[in-house]
Amino acid sequence: MSQQQGILVYSDLPEVTLELITLGQKLRAGNLSVAVIGSGDLQDQISKLSVDGVTNIYKVSNDSLSGFIGKPMVDALEAVCSEAKPNVIIVGATRRGREIAPRLATRLKIGCITDALNLEMANGKVSAERLVWGGNALASVTSKGATVVTIPLHSNQKATGSAQPNVVEVSANLNPSKVKLLGKKERPQGQVSIKDAEIVVSAGRGFKKKEDLSLLDGLVSTLHAVMGASRPLTSDLGWVPEERQVGLSGTTVKPKLYIAVGISGQIQHLTGMRDSKVVVAINNDKNAPIFQECDYGVVGDLYAAVPTLEKALKSQLGS
Ligand SMILES: Cc1cc2nc3c(=O)[nH]c(=O)nc-3n(C[C@H](O)[C@H](O)[C@H](O)COP(=O)(O)OP(=O)(O)OC[C@H]3O[C@@H](n4cnc5c(N)ncnc54)[C@H](O)[C@@H]3O)c2cc1C
Repeated sequence: MSQQQGILVYSDLPEVTLELITLGQKLRAGNLSVAVIGSGDLQDQISKLSVDGVTNIYKVSNDSLSGFIGKPMVDALEAVCSEAKPNVIIVGATRRGREIAPRLATRLKIGCITDALNLEMANGKVSAERLVWGGNALASVTSKGATVVTIPLHSNQKATGSAQPNVVEVSANLNPSKVKLLGKKERPQGQVSIKDAEIVVSAGRGFKKKEDLSLLDGLVSTLHAVMGASRPLTSDLGWVPEERQVGLSGTTVKPKLYIAVGISGQIQHLTGMRDSKVVVAINNDKNAPIFQECDYGVVGDLYAAVPTLEKALKSQLGS
């Protein structure tokens, strides 16, 4: 890219795009543009994203973009970048965003900073911090020039207000993808995603077998909570779906109440839940690191403590 200037933000989730717009406003680095890609007239998204500070909305509409498949999305964003010539492309670190950001950077032959914290801009260069070595250290990084950056979800408030940005229609040459979308599975109605949950009850390796996880059912339903898990239970053992994993390589949650059951409290897990308002831990090892991070701790066997807690809550809540 040549003569890059300004910021372009993109997420496949409009709610996340609003968070990125707030970040773009804070950076005060020239034009703040938004990419909207998908199929149909995209008018709903354009209206939703026409908020304070947005100067341009670049729209690519094409039927190949309806399935949110990586390759056509990267094609579309590449076309937007050659039109908008941004210096910084900020992408929300959704699952899809994490996939497309490095691919886009490779296409544009520019740098990529993933999961950037404390992003700043000076003299056209981006500097940020990143958790490295499994979350045990913070690295400071500075771009040499134009860069793609991914931002963890919920790091910024959603932008508000209204504006009348220029809407620029971009035509993109979308090559057919080798991946075909065979079907979509909707989340059951009324089921809250873990990142939006007000109460999360998470299970860890303290559970001896998969069937024992049903011990948490009563607690979860009494509290109207969403169940989460540590990594051993998701990607290692496959007892819990991966989208329920809390932590560095999972989802970051910020509930009002987080209950960690049989979780030791390794840094990679803490990274994903330490902004919870109140943390309760149940663990039979009094030296478990989670006890350094919790507001209330129960040192004891989870197989006894969980039913006791459930009974006490039911009698308090009258349910
Ligand atoms: C790059 C990288 C990314 C990672 N990302 C993540 C991530 O996103 N999320 C994540 O969770 N981890 C992640 N990990 C893994 C992380 O390092 C830990 O291994 C993991 O968090 C440990 O999970 P745990 O606490 O459930 O298991 P353990 O560390 O094995 O802890 C089990 C705990 O249960 C307690 N316990 C045992 N029996 C009972 C009982 N009967 N009653 C009560 N307590 C009991 C034990 O005392 C122990 O404290 C990552 C690691 C790396 C290297």
